[in-house]
Order: sequence, then C-alpha cells, then structure tokens
Amino acid sequence: MKTSIIGYPRIGGLRELKFASEKYFRGEITSEVLEQTAKEIRLYNLNLQKNSGLDYIPSNDFSFYDGILDTAVLLNAVPERYRQLGLSELDTYFAMARGYQGDKGDVKAFAMKKWYNTNYHYMVPEIDDTTEIRLVGAKPLDLFNEALDSGVKTKPVIIGAYTFLKLARYTGIKKASDFADAAAAAYSELLGKLGELGAEWVQFDEPSLVKDMTDEDVKLFAELYEKILSHKSGVKVLIQTYFGDVRDCYTELCGLDADGIGLDFTEGKKSLELLKKNGFPAEKLLFAGVVNGKNIWRNNYSDTAFIIDELKKYTDNIVLSTSCSLLHVPCTLKNESKMSDSFKKYFAYAEEKLGELSELKVIFNSENPVETEEYKLNAELHKVPRGGENLSVQEKVSQLKESDFVRLPVFEDREKIQKNRFNLPLFPTTTIGSFPQTADVRAKRSAFRKGEISEVDYNEFIEEKIADCVKLQEEIGLDVLVHGEFERNDMVEYFGECLDGYIFTEKAWVQSYGTRCVKPPVVWGDISRAKPMTVKWSKYAQSLTEKPMKGMLTGPVTILNWSFPREDISLKESAYQIALAIREEVLDLEANGIGIIQVDEAALREKLPLRKSDWNEDYLDWAIPAFRLVHSGVKSETQIHTHMCYSEFADIIRDIDNMDADVITFEASRSDLTILDVLKENNFRTEVGPGVYDIHSPRIPSKEEIRSALNKMLGRIPAEKLWVNPDCGLKTRGNEETVPSLRNLVNAAAEARNENS
Ligand code: GLN
Ligand code: ZN
Repeated sequence: MKTSIIGYPRIGGLRELKFASEKYFRGEITSEVLEQTAKEIRLYNLNLQKNSGLDYIPSNDFSFYDGILDTAVLLNAVPERYRQLGLSELDTYFAMARGYQGDKGDVKAFAMKKWYNTNYHYMVPEIDDTTEIRLVGAKPLDLFNEALDSGVKTKPVIIGAYTFLKLARYTGIKKASDFADAAAAAYSELLGKLGELGAEWVQFDEPSLVKDMTDEDVKLFAELYEKILSHKSGVKVLIQTYFGDVRDCYTELCGLDADGIGLDFTEGKKSLELLKKNGFPAEKLLFAGVVNGKNIWRNNYSDTAFIIDELKKYTDNIVLSTSCSLLHVPCTLKNESKMSDSFKKYFAYAEEKLGELSELKVIFNSENPVETEEYKLNAELHKVPRGGENLSVQEKVSQLKESDFVRLPVFEDREKIQKNRFNLPLFPTTTIGSFPQTADVRAKRSAFRKGEISEVDYNEFIEEKIADCVKLQEEIGLDVLVHGEFERNDMVEYFGECLDGYIFTEKAWVQSYGTRCVKPPVVWGDISRAKPMTVKWSKYAQSLTEKPMKGMLTGPVTILNWSFPREDISLKESAYQIALAIREEVLDLEANGIGIIQVDEAALREKLPLRKSDWNEDYLDWAIPAFRLVHSGVKSETQIHTHMCYSEFADIIRDIDNMDADVITFEASRSDLTILDVLKENNFRTEVGPGVYDIHSPRIPSKEEIRSALNKMLGRIPAEKLWVNPDCGLKTRGNEETVPSLRNLVNAAAEARNENS
C-alpha cells in the first residue's frame, strides 16, 4: 500500500510567505526576493515529504494567494480591467487578488468566497462572454520541473475543469457549458505538456463533485472528462474529491478512463456505502482519504483499520491518503514549544500527518497489522480517557428546555422599545467592531505575552487605544460606537482564552485567505466561562461617551466553527456548552450598562453541510438554537446585533431571521445586491446593515460610491430598517485608509438622511 497527500500548507511553518508577501506589497522587497522565499518554502516541504517516505508527492499546491486564482490565470481568465493596468504578471495577479489603487488605475479585487465548508477563502474567477479559455500559464510545469531538479517526480495538482467552471462567476450570457470545450482542450494540452516533462500522475481536484449535482451537472462533468482523458497518452490521472461523498456521480466517475479516484472516508458520509452498492473498478487505484486533513487530532488507527478492511472487500488497489488538502491544518507541532507533551501527544499537524501516513503504511503492509508496534502505541494512546470533563456543564446542557431558546417579548414589541431608548437617527452609522490592529498594538501584545511588560502596563495601553478610538469615532460622527477590539488577537482565540475547556497553540497558523492566517484554538474538554471576557473593556469604553457603546462578542457557532472541534462529543453538544458561556457574558454586559450587544456569527454559514438534505438535521437544527440561547435572557430594551461575513444566505433566510437578533450586518459590497431582494420577498424582520464598502481591500471608497450603494439598498429595504456600516471589521486595515473611508461613510449617510427625511 502506498501513500499520498492532496496538498500541503504553503505559508511556511512560521508564516514566511505571509511576511514576505506583505513586505513585497509595501515595496520593501523585490519580486525576486519574494520568489526566493516561495521557492525555499516549496523545497523545504518537498524534502519533508520525501523524507517521510510519502509516495505521491504533490506539486503546484503552492500559491502566492489562492489556487483558484492561479487556475484562472493559467486558463487565461484574466478580465480586461486587470490587463489594462499594464502591470507585471505578478502584480496583475495581486491586483486580481487584492484590488489595485495607484497611478495605473483603480480596480476592485475579485470576489472572495468560502471554500466549501472550510474557513479558507478562494477568489471567484470571472468569466465574461469574451473570455477565451486556453492554456496560457506554465506554473504547474515550472513547479514540476523545480521539484524534478531536486530529484522528486511529483504529482502536479490542478483544480479540475468541472470545479473550476462551477466556481466561476459568469458575467455575460454564456454559462459554464459554453466554455466546456475550450476548458477540456486546455486541460488536455496541460496533461500533454506534463506528460512530456515526465510526469507519471496528475491530480485533478474536483471537490464540486461532493455537492448536490443536477443531471446537467453530471453531464457537464462526464463530458469534460471524456474529452480531457481521451488525450491523456501515458500520464495517469487521479480525479480527487474531498469534503464529502460523490453520491450523485459515483457511477459516472467510475466509468471514466481515469487511473485513480480519490474519495473521502472521513467526511464522506456515504463513501463506503457507495462502494458497497456499486463496487470499485478493478483497474483503478482508490486513493482513500482516511487521515483527516481538517482536524488536528491523532488518527485512531483502529478506526482506520476498520475502514481499510471494509475497502479491501472491493479493491486491492488502495493508496492511503488524507481526506483533503493539509492546507487546512497547521504545519508542524515542532514549533509548539510551550505546549506540554500531555497535550501534544494527541495532536498531528501536517508534518505529523505525514508521519501517520508512513506508520499506516507500515501497519497495512505487515502480515499482522494489530501486532505492529505502531498500531499498539496508537491503541494505547486512545485507550486512556483524555480528561477535561466538567459534569456541571454537562448537566446544564442536558437540562435545557424549549423556553431557554426563546427571547420575549417578540421582535416587533422590542423594536419599538429600543427605538425609544436609543433614539438613533435614520440610517444609523456604525462599524463591525475592530479598528486597525496597528504595529504598536501587536508589539505591545507580544511584549505582554513574553512577560516584557506588566499586565498593568498592558491594560493601560489598551485603555489608551480604546480612548483614542472612541474619540476618533466621535470626531468622525458615527452613531453607535465600538471599543475597537484592541485586546484581541483574534475573534475566537481571545474568547477561547477566557473559557475553561479550551487549549491554545502557539504557531498553529492556518491560511484563511491570501496572506491572512488564523490560529484556531482547540476544544479540549467541556466548556464554561472562566471569567468575564469583555466587560471591563466595554464598560470603560462606554464611560468615555454619551453615545451607545456596542458590546462585542463572538457567537457560539462561530467560536466552534473556527476552533478545532472535539471528535468525541457531538458538535451540537459543544455548541450548547459554548452558548451557555457566552450567554453569561451577554447578561454580564447588560448588567454593566451596555445596551447594544453584537454577537458575531461570522462563520455561521461556513459549516452549512454541502448538501441541502443534510442542512437541518446535521446543522441548522442546533446552530440557530445555540445563537438564540445566547441572547434569550436579555431585557427587551437591550438591542442584539449579529454580524456575518458574507451575504449568501438567500437559501437560509428564514433561519437567519429565526436567530431573532434585532439587527444584522453582513457583507454586500463585493457581491451584487440580489440578497436585498430576497430579504424583501421574505419579509425579513431583522434590521439590516448590508456593508457599504469592502474592507478586504485597501481602496478608499468615495462618498459618491457609498451614496450609490445606499440608494440601491433603499430601493429594497425600508428606510427605518437600514443601518450603514462597512462590510466587516477593520482590524486588517491601516488608519490611512480607515479614517477617510469612515468619513465618506458618515457623510454619505448624512446626505441620504437629508434626502429621505
Ligand atoms: N467584530 C469582529 C471585527 O470587527 C468581526 C470580524 C469578522 O466578522 N470576521 O473584527
Ligand atoms: Zn465579517
């Protein structure tokens, strides 16, 4: 039995790529230096994989920003407005990724979307009627050669034609199928070129096959691959799926002339069943995703052995693989210098997962797997209970009653009470919470963590930042203020640190988008609130102003979705535990004079099951109640806000309304405003703040631009329900762009107010 991985993290163990890219963006290093850093990361990863004994080593899984964007460039899908800038190839690429504002022009970035059910974001390719899909790039070839020069014949990894065409946004009248022939030709040509270079295997990633597919989708997929594979001459093709099972196209997939099929046996609920029902083609290799590519718990070899035994009933040609790319886990436990071994031994990051694959290879290639040393040690680890139980929390959760999830009085009655209490102008302006986390904030936090400054000094510094931030907002003229979130490294880790049952990593960075990485904490045991989390900051901030100060918390579903979850209890159980802890904080804020409390559910949609039939039972039936549990105990005059980092909730609009918040802010600036029509059609009750500008890009929106966004919104939303705000927190931005942007926002709102009252 051989081993394979689908992809490897590319940011570098210490986020070298992030830091180099950011230096390049600031003009501090040349593109050559950036390229050099990238190459070092790639070669380091390559050697690591080679030395671990991995058989199928990927290449082209590296990206400067995003693999889908790379594929768009590879296939000539670069919209004219970026070409027109006349920038270098690399800078055109970054203009698509981040937008560009400078002497060559002013263009927005590509839209960004969550990558299936992960916290990674991809850039949405744009295809218009004039787009000519053809092979123009050489990155997969170059990276294959680079690895070959180091003595490794890799398996180039490319986003497959079907997934690429499904993910793209079509801005003209043509649709995916109109580009199928051209795409098939481009992929065939690529296969041919890789074959000439000596590639034995090529991996086409087709995660879109695990989504619900219509007959038309299945047809598109099958036709694409019939064409692509008819020219494959010598190169073997692996069609790799992940994040679920391929129940809608299993037969078609097996019927293709591919040489390997990659299936996910971790998240694919029905993967095994599909084999049982339909068998597996004898001549193909089954790349079996048995090592979880998304979570960091050590593999349980006995569970894996069970799956492999089952699979062996249908095929002897098994390659041991990860369930998805290791992009979604941190690089290496080696950098966790502070974590004690009593925790560490339960974890496997990307590098350790390579180790697991090599152990599993030993185990399954031995006569008697359960007698191997590797197997026994692993069984030993999983036999002993891990600790972390809290019986009182378990009991609280088990005693929850229906009424604990219901806030009274009902929305309409509260709305009146709150309008009276806050007396806000029409189109109240606010922000989503964080203000720029400038270098001084990060430096102070790091000094505090290293013990170089005292807690008193650190707190004093945070108070100064809060005071400046409040002053700035008053000066700009915002209506509902925030304290700025300077105390937080991250919207989840910070809360995790105030909760019992969480543990933290030091360097477990995972790419979220481009150069942005997150460091998810780990749900280790039962969760409870260890201490007040934000009360002192919000209270202090409120003491500085007459205007309402919005308390700022992260919601239970987001906390859970952005953590590495437990695998020994259900997600629902963990979500309710976290909800009870956040509920305590909400009540505490209220008791301390905070009248508006925002509970961010930035990631609520992220873990929505990829298949509609699983939505309710597997997710919404506990996720929405978890949010309600958080705020059902507040008084009617307390206003509950929530925030979501996206606007694709047309299909769960009822559920969003059912969260029963008073106000919801969400992203709208990057997407068209169709969501607003949906709100209208569904008589959405909750007041809304569709983001009026995009904070993911350094561009400064003009007042006119914001005005026109507001006008469009007003065509669809009753004026008295509309809030005005950016589309997300400002922490990743600088003050240079934030201050003028917010001034334009406030002025635009004032104008709209004059015209509408
Ligand atoms: N309150 C958070 C902030 O402003 C929300 C961030 C987010 O939605 N990702 O930073
Ligand atoms: Zn957001």
